[in-house]
Amino acid sequence: MTSELKLLPCPFCGGEAYTRAYNDTFWVRCERCGVETQDLHLTRPQAAEEWNRRAPARSDAVARLVEACKATLRAWRPCDDMRCECSSCEQYAELAEILAAVEKEMQ
Ligand SMILES: [Zn+2]
Ligand SMILES: [Zn+2]
Repeated sequence: MTSELKLLPCPFCGGEAYTRAYNDTFWVRCERCGVETQDLHLTRPQAAEEWNRRAPARSDAVARLVEACKATLRAWRPCDDMRCECSSCEQYAELAEILAAVEKEMQ
């Protein structure tokens, strides 16, 4: 194993990734959530390169999305009453909950 074959952790679940081989083609798959590289490659390094190139790009995009959502949530609180149950406040609470779950998964 050379350092160029080192695979980054899965951007979705942080799981460990492995190179798979079949009929002289290679791809990379996360053992935990099953996400795979899009293309089949003729060499291991090529498959590793695609995985490593796409993995951080995706998690960066998700991180930016989470930050943007957090900023929006901070700026938009529908009502002053924390226990209000109007539909806007319900949606606000739901979005905050989903956001917290996504942030937890990203760690
Ligand atoms: Zn995964
Ligand atoms: Zn309300």
